[in-house]
Amino acid sequence: MYDFTYQKPGSLADAVKVLSGDMEAKALAGGQTFIPVLKQRLNKPSTVVDLSKLGLSGITVAGDKIVIGAMTRHADVASNADIQAKIPGLAHMASMIGDEAVRHRGTMGGSLANNDPAACYPSAILALGGTIKTDRRSIAADDFFQGMFTTALEQGEIITSIELPIPQPPSSCRSRRSRLTRSSATRPRATRSSACSSPSMLPACVWRSPAPARVGYSGILRWKRRCRRTSPPRRSTAS
Ligand SMILES: Cc1cc2nc3c(=O)[nH]c(=O)nc-3n(C[C@H](O)[C@H](O)[C@H](O)COP(=O)(O)OP(=O)(O)OC[C@H]3O[C@@H](n4cnc5c(N)ncnc54)[C@H](O)[C@@H]3O)c2cc1C
Repeated sequence: MYDFTYQKPGSLADAVKVLSGDMEAKALAGGQTFIPVLKQRLNKPSTVVDLSKLGLSGITVAGDKIVIGAMTRHADVASNADIQAKIPGLAHMASMIGDEAVRHRGTMGGSLANNDPAACYPSAILALGGTIKTDRRSIAADDFFQGMFTTALEQGEIITSIELPIPQPPSSCRSRRSRLTRSSATRPRATRSSACSSPSMLPACVWRSPAPARVGYSGILRWKRRCRRTSPPRRSTAS
């Protein structure tokens, strides 16, 4: 590990000031990716800015949305009663991330900012049509993830929360949902994601099952494109 200065600001404004004023400064959330990177000397930040005192954790239901603070740990997503009730697939997925230690340190904001193609949250947030809120703007998930380990975040920009619309399963989904449930026990894992066969189905299926999250977000993008190509043209409602 190279030498660096460590700071733990008490306000978002102070954290943004440090990170924006120094190109070499880096944010620290749960440290599950960042600390091993530092240990292996793959990154040499001038300052490490700990985000743990900014009050960015917590889960609230606001109307038809669930808002998850960027510093919310995977274990808290997994055990939260509102997420278990309204997006159970997400809670289940969070409960399967890494091991106990990773789930009790790793954060949703850290996972999204890192955008590892092997990570679970990017694909789930993309599939759920989430919005990433930062200290300066709101970014739709479709625009946020730009490639492997690449996001729309600018220098010094901090994710503050993630807003997820609560999925409303369409009535046509019910039979497929039961098929999904039934198939879970009998079919090999890889074929389960095929139950989500139209764009409108995907949020509902994530709602019901973590299976689509396992296909990875690049898989979901490919699948969305395929659905767009094969979907019949929308009927005009104008008389
Ligand atoms: C052994 C192991 C197993 C794992 N298994 C899985 C798994 O099965 N599934 C899975 O999805 N993930 C897995 N992970 C990843 C883990 O879940 C973390 O989500 C991930 O490491 C990043 O989260 P973090 O909070 O630790 O972020 P950190 O490591 O602290 O930060 C990661 C990056 O994001 C930036 N950052 C952090 N927070 C913010 C913010 N709020 N705003 C802007 N930038 C920010 C940091 O500057 C850094 O560049 C695993 C990790 C380990 C070590």
